Amino acid sequence: MARVAFIGWRGMVGSVLMDRMIAEKDFHGYEPIFYTTSQVGQKGPEIGLDIPPLLDAYDITDLGQADIIVTCQGSDHTKDVYPRLRKDGWKGYWIDASSALRMQDDSIIILDPVNKDVIEKGLRQGIKNFIGGNCTVSLMLMAVGGLFRHNLVKWVSSMTYQAASGAGAKNMRELVEQMAFIGQASQNLLDNPATAALELDTRVLETLHSEGFPKEVFGYPLAASLLPWIDAPMENGQSREEWKGFAETNKILQIKKPIPIDGICVRVSSMRCHSQGLTMKLKKDLPVDEITEIIGNANEWVKVIPNSKEETLGHLTPAAVTGRLEVPVGRIRKMNLGEKYLTCFTVGDQLLWGAAEPIRRMLKITLEHLS
Ligand code: NAP
Repeated sequence: MARVAFIGWRGMVGSVLMDRMIAEKDFHGYEPIFYTTSQVGQKGPEIGLDIPPLLDAYDITDLGQADIIVTCQGSDHTKDVYPRLRKDGWKGYWIDASSALRMQDDSIIILDPVNKDVIEKGLRQGIKNFIGGNCTVSLMLMAVGGLFRHNLVKWVSSMTYQAASGAGAKNMRELVEQMAFIGQASQNLLDNPATAALELDTRVLETLHSEGFPKEVFGYPLAASLLPWIDAPMENGQSREEWKGFAETNKILQIKKPIPIDGICVRVSSMRCHSQGLTMKLKKDLPVDEITEIIGNANEWVKVIPNSKEETLGHLTPAAVTGRLEVPVGRIRKMNLGEKYLTCFTVGDQLLWGAAEPIRRMLKITLEHLS
């Protein structure tokens, strides 16, 4: 029976992965072993099976006995443990939510509704590293992958609106603390219906800049504001998150002549779900109905939202989409820029298709490959 090691199961991505695996009754047919970087000897997750206490996620002798390692722990852990395991002769499959190994030549970025052919070819050729893509890239491809598959895309500009949880459990918590802090500081003004809006605005602004404002994790106020920089700077002026759009999309699709993709990535104060406003130049001037059909037929999760105010506000927001596997795309229309220019807006739960779901499905694909 295959031995499958799970690392990082209690973080944001890991806990959504556990929920999805329990919902899909995935914990059977192999031996699951759980690891931790901070709670060795404590109890593992409730998965409906008797499992041993948590093992040390830095112990490569123990990890080296696994046939498959599934990790949602993060890049620092991968960079520490993965090279030591391979150096030690470990030949197993490494399935990872972090970006550490994504761009390596011996890794495939996994998003099977979009690139199952690439994954299967990789398995046949003996590739052992299968890495989840950047969440915004994966969600964009789940949404408009049909246009790429039909070779219709000349270039894409993607302007993102990314949730706090995209940065991890601590960031999500800090966003709520910031909201609570603003609420408390403004409460007496809210209690008086006669308070002028400008007075309320001044109070909120003073609160954002006050001494005790909770911002240790983000470094800046996110609640009642936004942060137009995600991840490290690159030499060309992009942020690393922006750099991933071009590099990862073309690697996922394994396109010979890379398609230009660029934009600005922005952290906003939604809790969960990444949203994107896309501008695309198409190679052909197709009618909107035909484009919509291509988008909507690409996979079983993409859902076209009609371009009306009610449908958009009811179904194309993080509040409507959180916790759902569907990836809605709406606001689809030609732009004033010209007939080949298309715009659309898409929202997806980045913890599902942007992180946990491709990992869950890759584990199943790998187990089937091994059986
Ligand atoms: P996270 O929530 O910060 O969790 C990572 C680890 O932090 C956990 O496995 C846990 O490890 C430890 N931890 C410490 N305090 C914790 C607490 N109070 N609650 C839960 N865990 C705690 O990170 P993440 O957002 O899941 O991201 C994991 C990796 O996936 C990263 O490489 C990230 O870039 C990538 N990713 C994230 C997203 C997203 O939307 N968040 C999307 C795609 C990819 P121990 O149990 O060992 O202590």
